[in-house]
Amino acid sequence: MSAVAVDLTSARRAEMLQVIEAEAKATAANTGRSVFAPRVMDALAEVPRHHFVRDDDHNRAYANVPLPIGQGQTISQPFIVALMTDLLDLKGTERVLEVGTGSGYQAAVLAELAAQVYTIEVLASLAQRATERFAQLGRKNITVRTGDGSLGWPDHAPFDAILVTAAAPTVSQALVDQLAAPGRMVVPVGKVGTVQDLTLVSKNAQGDVTKRSILPVAFVPLVKSS
Ligand code: SAH
Repeated sequence: MSAVAVDLTSARRAEMLQVIEAEAKATAANTGRSVFAPRVMDALAEVPRHHFVRDDDHNRAYANVPLPIGQGQTISQPFIVALMTDLLDLKGTERVLEVGTGSGYQAAVLAELAAQVYTIEVLASLAQRATERFAQLGRKNITVRTGDGSLGWPDHAPFDAILVTAAAPTVSQALVDQLAAPGRMVVPVGKVGTVQDLTLVSKNAQGDVTKRSILPVAFVPLVKSS
């Protein structure tokens, strides 16, 4: 890549961060967070989002919009990635499960902020592509598996944090069971085609589970593997 192209990318990434900051302030009444943790913003500045979108979309990779990634799926808009990541309150030592690898962008952001990321994708072609991207970018702390993520990944449980990036009508009990105590899970809950509730599920050290509605969102559905 030429120096000019690199500069353009970093300028666009800086603009993306400003848009996320403004949106965080605008939604603070709902989310309870008017600014996101500096390390979350640093992770978003670090991960090259243009590597995770189609070649045709390189120009708008840093715009605050969801983009198609093939197979009818989308990469979430940067603000939603930032919000979901921030809600997990990662410190750096955690083991994190992501359900819905998609392009791999969200997993790459999580990998900047936690010790180990496990991510599950139901569509084999997307899982394969994401695995290749992680290798190209030298990310060694992400493990990808093809399968139905609503059942979690019992072999690697418990997880300090779980992020679900596709919508389901209810929170999967299997995922709640695989959450450590304490642990935090962020998941869009609701029917597809309607607005869903981005929900924060918190488990305390005693294992008590509470849920809080954060923001209306629109995600693709969590599907069952056939
Ligand atoms: N986190 C992704 C975007 C996710 S889009 C990114 O950063 O690009 C939602 C993804 O969830 C899609 O790729 C879809 O194929 C996947 N998905 C849907 N149902 C699933 C399931 N049951 N288990 C795992 N992945 C699933």
